[in-house]
Amino acid sequence: MSQFEERPRSAVEGSWRARATEALASISEAVYSLDREDRFTWVNTAAERLLERPARELIGRKVWDEFPDLLNSPLAKAYSSARATREAQHLEFFYDPLDRWFEVRTYPNLEDLVVFFRDVHERRTLDEERAAESSLIRAVLNALPARTAILDGDGTILTTNAAWAAGTASEGRPFASRAGANYLDACRAAAAAGEPDAQTAVVGLEAVLARRQPSFSLDYPSTPAHDRSRAPTWWHMQAFPVDDGPRVVVTHYDITDRVTAEQRAAWQARHDHLTNLPNRAALHEVLAAALAEDDGGQVTVLYMDVDGFKQVNDSLGHDAGDLLLRELASRLSHRTRPTDVVGRLGGDEFVVVARDCDASGGEALARRFRSVFDEPFELAGTRLPLTVSVGIASSDPAHSRPEDLLRDADAAMYAAKASGPNNHLRFTPALRTELEDRWQIASRLRDAAGLDQLVVHWQPVVHLPSGEVTGCEALLRWNHPHRGLVGPAEFIPIAEENRLIVPITRWLLQATLAQAAVWAGEGLELAIAVNISAVHLSSGTLVDDVLGALADNGLEAGCLMLELTETAVARNPDQAAEQFSALRAHGARIAIDDFGTGYSSLSAVASLPADVLKVDRALVAGPVPACATGPETVLGVVTALGSALHMQVLAEGVETPAQLALVRRVGCTYAQGHHLSPPLPAEQISALLAEGRRQTGRQQLPTTR
Ligand code: C2E
Ligand code: CA
Ligand code: CA
Repeated sequence: MSQFEERPRSAVEGSWRARATEALASISEAVYSLDREDRFTWVNTAAERLLERPARELIGRKVWDEFPDLLNSPLAKAYSSARATREAQHLEFFYDPLDRWFEVRTYPNLEDLVVFFRDVHERRTLDEERAAESSLIRAVLNALPARTAILDGDGTILTTNAAWAAGTASEGRPFASRAGANYLDACRAAAAAGEPDAQTAVVGLEAVLARRQPSFSLDYPSTPAHDRSRAPTWWHMQAFPVDDGPRVVVTHYDITDRVTAEQRAAWQARHDHLTNLPNRAALHEVLAAALAEDDGGQVTVLYMDVDGFKQVNDSLGHDAGDLLLRELASRLSHRTRPTDVVGRLGGDEFVVVARDCDASGGEALARRFRSVFDEPFELAGTRLPLTVSVGIASSDPAHSRPEDLLRDADAAMYAAKASGPNNHLRFTPALRTELEDRWQIASRLRDAAGLDQLVVHWQPVVHLPSGEVTGCEALLRWNHPHRGLVGPAEFIPIAEENRLIVPITRWLLQATLAQAAVWAGEGLELAIAVNISAVHLSSGTLVDDVLGALADNGLEAGCLMLELTETAVARNPDQAAEQFSALRAHGARIAIDDFGTGYSSLSAVASLPADVLKVDRALVAGPVPACATGPETVLGVVTALGSALHMQVLAEGVETPAQLALVRRVGCTYAQGHHLSPPLPAEQISALLAEGRRQTGRQQLPTTR
């Protein structure tokens, strides 16, 4: 049933209408016409059937009011193109409410638009005989966890699976698109909106659709357009041809979990877990990038090491140490400029990489970072004043590699600490030479004991009341193949730094006790004094090492005195007290060496279980009033103190008869020094004491001394 709109029209138009009505009313194809306001003016019977609406309900009404789903559809676009171009338009489109494909032709005719349309759903989707197969395919598609769409040769989405349909429009492109929309267009829109991978997807997909490429895959992040601050969802998109036809299947797997796990692992690999600062690997990269910058100026590296951090760890525990490092990391991060990078190499070592910064800028920066320590650190209820040593190295043409700069800054820090602490120092090539010398000494020293290059000289200790030589102090020398006899001051600190002092002291204990046994065989009763390093004290093996050497040589501990400097003991009095007690329980004696040179409190020393106070020669050599007897000299005060603490006092470095007279007068028990005897090789000690015995009948030095 067809109807005309009853509006006055021209005679020509009217006659056209009459003829058109007659011709089109009964054809099987659906036809309607629209006026310039898109109101239905005519609808034929086939159209009534297809649209499932009688013509009388439609005439005079706007197509968009009656079929709102058509608004913004490809059909709407076809209408406007037909009107604009005055040319017929042809398209196939999927009409959602009816869930079917339609083929549409629109013809502009004066002010009107005549629209022919027919249902091509069967042809477009499934032929009758392929319906069964198709439902199987649909079931398989729906079972796929990946969001899947089948595209026609031009990129139009023919169908999507259940996983796709479950996606929401808020998830962004392409999942907002439904069947009938064009997948490529969605990607192009995403590219236009600035999504970085969308254009890659367009190119890849076009290549697969055109069969230039067998398949295409892409991992891409997708952030919902309405909230760019949200973490993206990651998709693995794959496209490949369905069969020999033009169609392509596109799948999207959600790989967000995998990607975030990978990202987390990658982040962790480049950051320090304690402070979240860049770690060594990341700092290397930052440095390499900074050095590679063409227009960048000098790059300066600051190498920072907290002074005495080990003591914090030892005394307050590792948890407190960790807290300190975190607090420090946060303070340092707040002092960096946006172009600087602060990282942690491990332990208490932090590094700052400063771009566009020369050495003097580096010094200013070092001062700034040192001032981070002005405010004490609150730890475990105590306020800890701390300092830092900083090494500075700036790039020069020779420094092309990050490791060079880091190494130089490290060397400068090392030197700063040695001259400080609480110091900063710029790297210089001379510093490197010095370090290389030390390194060479260390590497040669490693073999020295094995090569019999270590030699012991002995200095007699005289018991002042009896005048007898009751002991000998073992003093180490290194018979260096090129440099001759090298004194301990040159190599003991290097041995301490390079973990060589403990093995060297083990060797020394064996060598000295073996010598004690030889002297005992000669009828000489001498207590052996061996110097022990602070490093050995904190190694924890001292007691075992001493007892082992005694057992190996079949000697009692009573023949051994162990000397530890006042500073070594003051560094960790508890640890010292514990080991001293153990050694004394076996009969060994303990001497506090170089007493009077450190700054330890007397009460700290007084509470230590020690036997002998060895007063440093600085106190013996001071100016002495001609007839001074005691308390008016520092030596006198210290000697009185030693007696009060039930310790025997030994005066070191007695060089003159006047000094010998003084140490006797103030009441020292023992004396040692060049005036009595310099340190000598063992055979000379034997000869000397044999001569003394010949002269006096006692174990004394010859009277000529
Ligand atoms: P020290 O333990 O205070 O040893 C005394 C130092 O004073 C020795 O120097 C000795 O030769 C020197 N000396 C002795 N009498 C006089 C004197 O009348 N006047 C002057 N000016 N000096 C005198 P040396 O042998 O060069 O040893 C220096 C330091 O090296 C020692 O000081 C000790 O701290 C260390 N040392 C020596 N041997 C060893 C060792 O086997 N192990 C360890 N850890 N340190 C050692
Ligand atoms: Ca000593
Ligand atoms: Ca000494």
